[in-house]
Amino acid sequence: MKIYNTLTRQKEELKPIHDKKVGLYCCGPTVYNYAHIGNLRSFLFEDFLRRTLEFNDYDVNQVMNITDVGHLTSDSDEGEDKMEKGAKREGKTVWEIAEHYTTAFFDDIDALNIKRATHYPKATDHIEEMIRLVQRIEANGYTYQAGGNVYFDTGKMEDYGKLTGGTVETRHSASPEHTRIDVDPNKKHPHDFVLWFTESKHGNQDMQWESPWGKGFPGWHLECSAMSMKYLGKQFDIHCGGIDHVPVHHTNEIAQTEAATGKKPWVKYWMHGEFLLVGSGGKMAKSGDNFVILQTLRDRGFDALDYRYFCMQAHYRKELKFSWEGLEAAKTARRRLHDRANVGTCHDTSGKDAINRVSGDYMQKFNTAINDDLNIPQSLSITWELVDDTSVPNEEKMATLSKFDEVLGLKLGEKEVHDTPKEIEELIEQRDTARLKKDWATSDTLRKEIEDAGWIVEDKNDGGTIVKPK
Ligand code: AMP
Ligand code: ZN
Repeated sequence: MKIYNTLTRQKEELKPIHDKKVGLYCCGPTVYNYAHIGNLRSFLFEDFLRRTLEFNDYDVNQVMNITDVGHLTSDSDEGEDKMEKGAKREGKTVWEIAEHYTTAFFDDIDALNIKRATHYPKATDHIEEMIRLVQRIEANGYTYQAGGNVYFDTGKMEDYGKLTGGTVETRHSASPEHTRIDVDPNKKHPHDFVLWFTESKHGNQDMQWESPWGKGFPGWHLECSAMSMKYLGKQFDIHCGGIDHVPVHHTNEIAQTEAATGKKPWVKYWMHGEFLLVGSGGKMAKSGDNFVILQTLRDRGFDALDYRYFCMQAHYRKELKFSWEGLEAAKTARRRLHDRANVGTCHDTSGKDAINRVSGDYMQKFNTAINDDLNIPQSLSITWELVDDTSVPNEEKMATLSKFDEVLGLKLGEKEVHDTPKEIEELIEQRDTARLKKDWATSDTLRKEIEDAGWIVEDKNDGGTIVKPK
């Protein structure tokens, strides 16, 4: 299996540290708002990676952090605290904000059929590990204190910036979050970064912890170093994230971790997903006014899997421009593919028998595509080629498609492919309760309401309700 390594700027054969086991760390969501569909594109890329690794029989230990503290609106330690910003906006506590948007994140990834990671550590549960990491960096001589904060001294690190090839100024540092010019006067060098904040401008921060340097909170790069090492060991295989993380977040993660452990390389392979763009070509960003969330797509009649399909049409290292027309085309294509994949009656393709019945030729082509740095667009074309190939017997076709779907994750074998909006789910729930109480009048009113919203209602024998789009 070949993957592109940002660190070496080339495709490399994957050679895990421990034979068939892969340690995979993915930077997770900052839970101060809904994930936008750009964030979700990155999580989808990581899902294709995870699925491809498993397809190749690797035993994957995947860790994704939940950032619920200390992430400022700028990566370079400037700006507002994102959690406080969310709390102010909604008149809630930071803890309530974190809980609400963490739940929303899980709802989104489940709807997109993204496999759950092995661990989802929260930053607020790992403050002790972060403090210990700063102590080690300090003991090794890479820190200084100024204005009450503890800084990482990038000048002490010879290979600082190696992830970007020696320069941390890339086109991505020109994104809105990086254009602030209010440079912290305590820093010896502009690239230095805070490991522990005490005397920050956020003195009244809700989330604060005691530390050897005073009460405060961690810098946001710290959590990924501390938590990845806790769950994956001091050296592990793959670290992923969106491309925006290359110049600052990941660069700083490498610097502080290698300063603490002296182990090089800390991570063998760095993989980054390109941006989802909007409008005239700008990056979709939570700080901008152009961001779209999964619910927005659903409100316009799309299924989460339509968006999954949309993203599959571009390689993860290519920018992808979002458009409603593009999503509409993905919706049509996905439904056609689903219908074609469901034509046969023999769907019980699980288990070993199915593996024996798959089409060897197609399987080989599919393997070549996904193992060439996750060429998912090509694997999708191969899937279509197979669907249209009349020379392949139906049963073999179904078995092969079912195997492909382990990577594609399009639920090709499932009968129902729509997902119902929250409002409809609520109406169904109310109607089920009414039917349980034999309140037929309410049940009928609710049926009409659901139908008027564009759904066909069917009553199951067990008293439940199923709906299908009209
Ligand atoms: P955040 O919740 O902002 O910390 O971001 C979660 C993930 O989404 C990170 O891996 C980011 O690099 C990634 N990301 C942010 N914006 C975009 C975008 N427009 N397109 C693709 N990925 C993005
Ligand atoms: Zn991270």
